[in-house]
Amino acid sequence: MSDFFGKLKKNIDKGVNKASKKSAEIAEKTKLQTQIMSLKNDKKNEISELGKVVYDMLKEGNLDEEAINLKFESITEIEKQINDKEEQKENIEKEGLAEESEESEESKEFEDVEVVEETEVIECPNCGEKNPTDAKFCQNCGTKLKD
Ligand SMILES: [Zn+2]
Repeated sequence: MSDFFGKLKKNIDKGVNKASKKSAEIAEKTKLQTQIMSLKNDKKNEISELGKVVYDMLKEGNLDEEAINLKFESITEIEKQINDKEEQKENIEKEGLAEESEESEESKEFEDVEVVEETEVIECPNCGEKNPTDAKFCQNCGTKLKD
């Protein structure tokens, strides 16, 4: 029984740790999501700026390919950052899922512990007295219970 309460406490502690870990996960995911949104916004701005730069160049009949490439590179750099953040977010999600399946296995183990042990007795073949399993002789009549 003491083991049961030990396990119960351990499970409660684990639950608390898991809850705080879960909220840290959510906070991290939210942070990444905000960064991704801001980067996507940057990308949109850069692309529209690239369009404007190219437009001005075409208007003046002077296409500066190097300037266009620089702009393009900064856009692909933003794209790379977006991909990195998306990947980090996915990893957090994957870790969360792995932990959830681990958790269900733990609660299964916990359910097994919950089965209350029945007090086993040996019934005396002579008088029917219920004796503890470790008793060699009946507590009532003294009949030998086991070898
Ligand atoms: Zn007996």
